[in-house]
Amino acid sequence: MFLPETIQQAETQNSAWRASTGRLFRCRQACQDRGANRRRLLIASLLALCVGCLLLLESGSVGSLAESPISNPGRVLLVTAHPDDEVIFFSSTITALHASGLEVFLLCLTNGDAHGLGGVRERELRAAAKALQIDSAHLNILNDSRIQDGHHEEWEQDYVANVVRKEVRRLLINTIITFDPAGVTGHKNHKGCHDGVRQYVTACAMEEEEGSKKCPNAWSLTTTDDLRTHLSIFDIIYSAVDGHRGNESAMFLNHDLLGMFRAMAAHKSQSRWWRHVLLTRYTFVNTLQRVKPLLTDWALPLPVPAGLDSTAVGAGGVQGDLITTAAASSGAVAKRGKFMARMSRRVMKNIRR
Ligand SMILES: [Zn+2]
Repeated sequence: MFLPETIQQAETQNSAWRASTGRLFRCRQACQDRGANRRRLLIASLLALCVGCLLLLESGSVGSLAESPISNPGRVLLVTAHPDDEVIFFSSTITALHASGLEVFLLCLTNGDAHGLGGVRERELRAAAKALQIDSAHLNILNDSRIQDGHHEEWEQDYVANVVRKEVRRLLINTIITFDPAGVTGHKNHKGCHDGVRQYVTACAMEEEEGSKKCPNAWSLTTTDDLRTHLSIFDIIYSAVDGHRGNESAMFLNHDLLGMFRAMAAHKSQSRWWRHVLLTRYTFVNTLQRVKPLLTDWALPLPVPAGLDSTAVGAGGVQGDLITTAAASSGAVAKRGKFMARMSRRVMKNIRR
């Protein structure tokens, strides 16, 4: 070890040590200041983005109907699985459609009776619909023994498709909106909504091919990955960039956050889902994709399953719309044959080109 031989050497060594310690202290101080500045800058940027997103919401300048491929949606039917789906997942779509002066009809396929709260949840949904400005006459909540709430409930695709078809005919619907195949949360009932609507759209497309009718357009709510889902309001920016792809997608911003919060408050028995409302993108923005008909062998037209009658679609059920299973099935097989033959011819033509 080096020991100072004189007092002068000791003093020189001491002052050098003080100088280096001072430099170290000043450096640490500067680094801390720089870190704090970066944090402030980050918070300020996030706040600015947040304000920007809120201004976009307020102005409604992005995602208006005029800019979306759903430019003339006519009468819109929203098909959901449970009371509260309309708020947690679809409030952006509902409020945007209302802001454009359009009528929205809500078909909730169950009354949310999985835990014996069906009656309570029905009342909550009526209150929530009011907060979202959905007329009570536009609301149909089913309590059908073959479409029950629950993760383990199996819904027959054809049965759901028939329920949708009856509602479309009863209300003269032009546009249907529902979940996509992933169902946002992956809930089996959400997926059941999509499967039923897609089955209806497929069967309808086959009838349209025959020239007998004009089918409604169907759209599904896009499920995003976890990161985007939890970007919350900031996903507006991502959606604005990514949301429009030709005629196949559309985007809606929430036009009535206050109404949406009031609607969620009406679902008192579901208060645990507030975190979902506050922390996910669906509260602020919905992106929709067109539902395309299935062109597979099992995309059958709709034989009416036994037991489905007009009472299954609520008080205003369809009149004179019952088809016997046998007649529907035989007609369906013939139509399917013709349709598949026509599709095959088209495919072959394209291949030959
Ligand atoms: Zn649900």
